[in-house]
Amino acid sequence: MASVAEPFQMTIDGAAAPAARTLPVRNPATGEVFAEAPDASAEDLDRAVAAATRAFETWKTTPIAERKAALGKAADIIEAHADELAALFVSEQGRPYPGAKGEILGGAMWLRATTMLDIPVDVTEDTDKRRIEVHHVPLGVVCGIVPWNFPVLLAVWKIAPALMAGNTLVLKPSPFTPLTTLRIGALIRDCFPAGVLNIISGGDALGPLMTAHKGFAKISFTGSTATGRRVMESAARDLKRITLELGGNDAAIVLPDVDVDAVAAQLFDGAFHNTAQVCVATKRLFIHADIYDRLRDRLHELARATPVGDGAEQGNRYGPIQNEPQYRRVLALLDDARASGLTLLEGGAVPERGYFVPLTLVDNPPDDSRVVVEEAFGPVLPLLKWHDLDDVVQRANDTEYGLAGAVWSADVEKATEIAHRLDTGTVWINQNLQSTPFTPLAGAKQSGFGQENGLAGLLEFTRPKAIFIPKAQATA
Ligand code: NAD
Repeated sequence: MASVAEPFQMTIDGAAAPAARTLPVRNPATGEVFAEAPDASAEDLDRAVAAATRAFETWKTTPIAERKAALGKAADIIEAHADELAALFVSEQGRPYPGAKGEILGGAMWLRATTMLDIPVDVTEDTDKRRIEVHHVPLGVVCGIVPWNFPVLLAVWKIAPALMAGNTLVLKPSPFTPLTTLRIGALIRDCFPAGVLNIISGGDALGPLMTAHKGFAKISFTGSTATGRRVMESAARDLKRITLELGGNDAAIVLPDVDVDAVAAQLFDGAFHNTAQVCVATKRLFIHADIYDRLRDRLHELARATPVGDGAEQGNRYGPIQNEPQYRRVLALLDDARASGLTLLEGGAVPERGYFVPLTLVDNPPDDSRVVVEEAFGPVLPLLKWHDLDDVVQRANDTEYGLAGAVWSADVEKATEIAHRLDTGTVWINQNLQSTPFTPLAGAKQSGFGQENGLAGLLEFTRPKAIFIPKAQATA
């Protein structure tokens, strides 16, 4: 922490920008304020949008090779500062250091990998008479809004494709985790012409101001489904393009042929990784009746043995819930489960100070209990017993969400057949939480609108422009 330059400042028009007011930032492992972040005003937002609008005029025609080189340079700088950034990340986000550093390095990797993609020119007709070319041209100024669970990676998922496609960006991190993103902004601001990448932070008022701002051509939003709906309503007023990556209530279906001891640890981390604050974490674990008791007991052993505590202390596997409102929501869900008479299987003790919740399994609750229906976004995992395959597929699909899911079986062919029956954007077979820069992440149903990553995700930052070119003999 000592090496982190303070005060934290925003990046507007290629320069450091303070704000007249600040927001307190808390360490979730202690609940204490440890830094202040700028609280951007409407005027700061206007300045950022105006700078991005000016910059767009030249950035959109800057050769793509130059845009890629700028992103590659940014990746190098982030990587070179990974230790410093990871320490800051632990303080504001709570995740233990190895995972924090993994996200910083993952962000650098993702920036580079995105530059391996290319924006195609589609030829829809090429005859003696004419050639029709469909170009994918940038949209303009993009508004990026990011949540607190993977603040750096999810910011990169917007920065890399938006800028590579020739747009300029105004990015807003969550008020709960603004610091690492602001710091990255300071480190990489010289990689781009002034105004291409603007990073502003602020409180609850800033998001709605951004989505309503007429200067944006597109909103790329990652967060909860409830907020996603508000973003879509706001964007509708002037038909802004939108991409929404929203919540999930992902099911994993475990078949009776698995090796319980071999899969238990993977299933456990697939649910509790990042203290279960992962949009694509397993949030409903369907276990076949034949192995239910054995797997439940094995998972409970893991919950008791897994160290949960301050991410800055070595040896802790999982950290606190990231912020107080989320902590209160998870406690309320647990209170509801207890009041409903559900059986809770708790993990080991957790620190009393800070936003800690013991890793908790819920032993075969009814499908309509809150702990099953709602996205907990915290370490509360319902284990659900199943007997019949058709029935469990129907139960897995019986949710308003459709982000991801998983099937676990010794029979990969059978698991693949089941994967085709799940109504989600991603299905993993005998693995968890995987994503790549070349594979679209696209929520079905209330989990999203549009997609991120891969060529399809990149093209969401463009619009098609068809050019009809007559052939020489046709015009003669
Ligand atoms: P959130 O919706 O509360 O906030 C997300 C962002 O939106 C924050 O930056 C917040 O300041 C901003 N915001 C809040 N109200 C706004 C408004 N009215 N208009 C515009 N912006 C507004 O979500 P969260 O609690 O930060 O994140 C957790 C949620 O994000 C979970 O539901 C999780 O599943 C989801 N998530 C989805 C993905 C995905 O790729 N599908 C990835 C990570 C997280």
